[in-house]
Parts: sequence; C-alpha cells; structure tokens
Amino acid sequence: MKIGRFTLEQLSEGFFELFKDGTFSKMDPARLNNAAEDPTLGRYSSALGIDPLLISDGTTHIVADAGLGWGLDQKSLYNETSNLITNLEIFGLTPDDISIVILTHLHYDHAAGCTRVDSSFKTTPTFPNARYVVQKKEWEFALKEFQSKSEISGADYRLDELFRLAADERFEFIDGNKTLTDGIDLILTGGHTPGHQIVKITDGIQMAYFLGDLIPTEHHLNHYAMKTLDFSPLEAKKSKTLILREAYREQAQLFFYHSLFNKNGLLAKDRNRNYILKEERR
Ligand SMILES: [Zn+2]
Repeated sequence: MKIGRFTLEQLSEGFFELFKDGTFSKMDPARLNNAAEDPTLGRYSSALGIDPLLISDGTTHIVADAGLGWGLDQKSLYNETSNLITNLEIFGLTPDDISIVILTHLHYDHAAGCTRVDSSFKTTPTFPNARYVVQKKEWEFALKEFQSKSEISGADYRLDELFRLAADERFEFIDGNKTLTDGIDLILTGGHTPGHQIVKITDGIQMAYFLGDLIPTEHHLNHYAMKTLDFSPLEAKKSKTLILREAYREQAQLFFYHSLFNKNGLLAKDRNRNYILKEERR
C-alpha cells in the first residue's frame, strides 16, 4: 500500500510454530484448519507469522525488523525457506539496496536475520550498506539479559552474531523518540522490553504503524496484558492504550509482525466498544 511517497510491503517468512522452550519450527499452514484437534498447537506451542516490513520511497529502502533469517547462512538446512532476501527479490531489490534496518527490539525472532554466515564462515551483516537502528536502552537491556541467561519462551536474546555488528559499528543507537527521515518516526514504547520501539509512517494526512511486539497480532488489540511475555505489563498497557487511541483517531493502517491471517488493517470498534480490524484501505 502507499502512504504519501512511501510504498509499504510485508515480507512474509511464512508460518512458524513457537514451542514453550523458545524454539521455532516451520509449520504447515494446513494444520491451522484443524487446530482444535492438533496434538501440540495451543498446548505445547503456538502458531505465528513472521512479517518484516519494507518501507520504500523508490530511493531509500528501509526494512523494519529482520525476521528469523532462515536459509540465509551458508550450508543452512533451510535452503528453500522464505527470508528477507528472497522476499526482497520479489520487489526487484537486493540486500545492497537496503540503507536502513529498524529494529523494534532485539529478541531473536526480530533480529536474527540481521546477520548471516558467508561462504568463508564469517558472520557478516545481511545488508552490507545498512545502518541498524535500535534504542540504546534495548541494547543495554539485551546485554544484561544475555549475561544473566534468563530465558522466557519467545522472548530471548541471542547476541553472539549481533556482537559482530556492534564491533563493526553498524548499529545506530538512539535514545527515545526520533524522526528517522521526513515521514518516518520511531516511537519508544517500552513495555514488551524496556527499549521497545514502533515505527510511524506518515505523509501528514495518512498514517501507518509497524507495531513490533507491542501489539503482535490482531488478537492482541483488546488484550492488554501479555504477562509472561512483557517485561513491564503496566508500561505495555499504557503504551498500547495511547497508540491505539491515536491510531483509531487517525484511521491509521496497522501492520502486525506475528499475525497468521489478518496481517494489516484499519481500526474500528464493535458494539461493545472493542477494537476490531477493518479491511485494508486501497
Ligand atoms: Zn519480542
């Protein structure tokens, strides 16, 4: 879809099953047709999508969140897997064309695609010409968590590869809200992690938000607490309330990172004043 000079496209890596120990596996979407009878779904695992966002004005190409990046590595087991690079090809772009990677936060499922292992088995940035924009608070928190090895399913940091980016000074650490470029704002929300940020895209009239894990799917619109997943449920609730109120008023397009089916849309309210998702504006 278009917002002013920007084209926004979701780069879907497909369907995944997230197990309670934090591991992911690729999932056959057909299993969702029979989810109630599935032996693991819901009990031991949950199904989710992984959908980074491409924001492009034709000259500057930006990726928001980097996905799991399966299949990027040399000798990867997942050669036929959809990842950022295979998705960009669809839009005639190569990794060299990306100049900015925005990271909502550094959890593995959002940041693993930032790097890959090249043919000489060296860790290299997936996007050689990009700066990787992340909140300073997020990096500091990730370092602390990584050292203390506290493990929460689906909310873990695996920094070994990202240290390479840090050593090569590829990160741009920012401190709070920031206008990245005319029409693209980064908003520090905290909540899910202390340094979690979301992306607002606007031409002054139309608005869109890329919500990261503040609101991971359309099913989280009215569920304010993700007690097991959010670092500070209270802060998450406060940020969600504010952003949703704003997005409803603006009739902004919302882009979800983990949805299975309704990956984007506009906000409406049902009879009980709960938020629901309307169809995409064309
Ligand atoms: Zn997360």
